[in-house]
Amino acid sequence: MRILLALLAMAASASSETIVLRNFTLIDGNGGAPLAGAGMVVKDGRIAWVGKAGEMKAPAGTQDVDLTGKFVMPGIINLHGHLGNVVGLVQDPKNFTPQNVQKQLDTYAKYGVTSMLSMGSDQSSVFPIRDAQRAGRPKTTRIFTAGKGFTGVNGYPTTVPGMKGVPYEIGSPAEVQKAMDELAPKKPDFVKIWVDDHLGKEKKIPTEISVAIIQAAKKKGLRTAAHIFYYADAKALAENGLYAAAHSVRDREVDQTLIDIMKKNGTWQLGTLAREYSTFAFSKKQPFLDDPFFKLGAEPEVINTLKSDAYLKKQQADKDLPKYPTFLATAQKNLKKLYDAGIRVGFGTDSGPPARFTGFFEHKEMELMKEVGFTPSQIITIFSKNSAEFLGAKDLGTLTAGKWADMVVLTKNPLQDITNTHAIDAVYIAGNKVR
Ligand SMILES: [Zn+2]
Repeated sequence: MRILLALLAMAASASSETIVLRNFTLIDGNGGAPLAGAGMVVKDGRIAWVGKAGEMKAPAGTQDVDLTGKFVMPGIINLHGHLGNVVGLVQDPKNFTPQNVQKQLDTYAKYGVTSMLSMGSDQSSVFPIRDAQRAGRPKTTRIFTAGKGFTGVNGYPTTVPGMKGVPYEIGSPAEVQKAMDELAPKKPDFVKIWVDDHLGKEKKIPTEISVAIIQAAKKKGLRTAAHIFYYADAKALAENGLYAAAHSVRDREVDQTLIDIMKKNGTWQLGTLAREYSTFAFSKKQPFLDDPFFKLGAEPEVINTLKSDAYLKKQQADKDLPKYPTFLATAQKNLKKLYDAGIRVGFGTDSGPPARFTGFFEHKEMELMKEVGFTPSQIITIFSKNSAEFLGAKDLGTLTAGKWADMVVLTKNPLQDITNTHAIDAVYIAGNKVR
């Protein structure tokens, strides 16, 4: 027995891994000044030590990585994405296979997105994938999931192609409990509700049912995030204990009344500006379609379709098209206004559905935040520290000792211009180099 234990201990130390990174500029996600000439010791995927490279005591015989001239920032945490249902530009729950989930996670990882929260469009097969990740050191983007989300009977988004049968369709407050009893034992990280009539074209879940969902979730110890569009819904749900608005209010400017309610109840706000951008961006041939950074995640057939006259004509035929840029502008203005008022803002993009490009859209979101005056440092803190706090993930977020080494190495300084986040040299998840 003693010999067996000794052998096991030897095996454990043999599989123990230490990496030393040195001579980089550290941007740790806390929002302070960057640290030039930094060093980091990563042991078994976690940050064991970080500080001035000159003060680093590097253990002997470790893998040593010289990052002279490079910048290290925390991995991007996307709090609003959708996994697995899309192949090419087609959304269908049949696509939700472990292989397709893996492929999309790997795409997120290539773009430096090290964690993502899938918002209500997952099937039960997501849970064992997530649980296996959490039991070890993942080699791809970490999944957080709301599992199966909620809407009303025939409610939005069940009318969106490929979304019928994806969320629960709840007809009355009395029906909420049964669905929650089915969902909660799977231990979703969040509960998702879609609260929208899609510009009056679809059925919206009644407020009383949404409130019943929030309350039933709370009894199970779960936090609820809602897809909202209208100010009135944001206000009604924030008043009733909603944890997060998963999109910006887009029908009008937010006001002090909403700010006061959100502040009092600690309601979080996600921007999903890139989602708004997607509603009109592809009605034109965008120059970025030929950008290698875009091509990293978009397949050639998809790019050809986006460039085709048939696709462009279809986008241009949408009679609501002229309204979409206004919704983006309103979303941008509201996000900044809430942030400036001290409302907690997390990083969400709504990437994953057709033509909302996983990974690329996270960088687009940053650019759209920059347009309304978020500084690079604020954006980085929002997608790292703040978003980890949103998740309640104590060992993710900033690059400080004890946390998982989820980080992005850049060849250009993102504090000079946030679009320098495109210059990705390497991506680490739990200390595993995934790009
Ligand atoms: Zn969404």
